[in-house]
Amino acid sequence: AKHGGRRTARFYDGELHAQAETKRKLEADLERAVREEEFVLHYQSKVCSRTSRILGYEALIRWNRPGHGLVMPGAFIEVAEQSLIIQDIGRWSIYTACEAAARWKEKVSVSVNLSARQFLDPKLYATVRDALRKSGLDASRLELEITETCLIQNTIVAARILERLKKLGVQIALDDFGTGYSSMRFVQQFPFDRIKIDKSFVLSMESDKKAQAIVDAILHLGSSLSIPVVAEGVETESQAKRLIEAHCSELQGFLLSRPAPLDVDGMVISKLANA
Ligand code: C2E
Ligand code: CA
Ligand code: CA
Ligand code: CA
Repeated sequence: AKHGGRRTARFYDGELHAQAETKRKLEADLERAVREEEFVLHYQSKVCSRTSRILGYEALIRWNRPGHGLVMPGAFIEVAEQSLIIQDIGRWSIYTACEAAARWKEKVSVSVNLSARQFLDPKLYATVRDALRKSGLDASRLELEITETCLIQNTIVAARILERLKKLGVQIALDDFGTGYSSMRFVQQFPFDRIKIDKSFVLSMESDKKAQAIVDAILHLGSSLSIPVVAEGVETESQAKRLIEAHCSELQGFLLSRPAPLDVDGMVISKLANA
């Protein structure tokens, strides 16, 4: 057992070393990716549940990493968040999304995801203002999606940041609603334009009575407070039907369309299931 233990420890060291190495490589590659603009935004539509009309698109980042293909944000955003790289990536996302939306024929909204570090960056306000000015995009067409992590550290600072952004005229959505610890308190304290039900609830709604109850409770909350609620992760007709019956205002998910790149004219290539 003694020998086995030592072997395990040595193996474990090697494993940790390999992990640290992979992370260092990822960080170095991300820095290059920022310089070489290896990122691309895909856009996923959000539709009105009553009319099926497209209300806007959420910008979702992907990384064309040489030798790795198209890398999804789950594989690099966390590492980027641990360093200042996230601020460069975030700035790029805001400028790129605003410029894209300013060229769309339909004057619909564009939503950009912000990580906590970006949200708390004192330069965010100037970045957003400058991106709106340079692109000519109407501020009301830009929506910033934030999560509870942005608000939890310091609610007074967060309130001040939100207030300034709201004065610019941009919209604020609370993303991943229901997954945090203080969802209700944040809805009470902050002026959100929209709440997004986390897809984990929507995806399990039909197989799990508790998830269904949570979805209903969030929809009820939204309607009592007159805050539009978006359900993300809508994959099936029956999920959509239930959500529409429960008066969910906006739907987003693979059923409606998958995130897609822009076409050569800068328009979203959206393959609507019902179009
Ligand atoms: P999120 O903001 O919660 O985005 C929703 C995720 O669900 C996206 O994954 C989207 O592709 C996926 N999704 C959409 N519809 C469905 C569906 O019907 N079923 C299922 N199973 N999934 C669906 P994605 O694109 O991999 O993004 C993951 C996360 O990465 C996002 O979660 C967001 O937190 C973050 N992210 C994406 N782009 C950016 C960005 O530009 N900046 C920052 N800071 N974070 C970003
Ligand atoms: Ca989002
Ligand atoms: Ca979400
Ligand atoms: Ca998320």
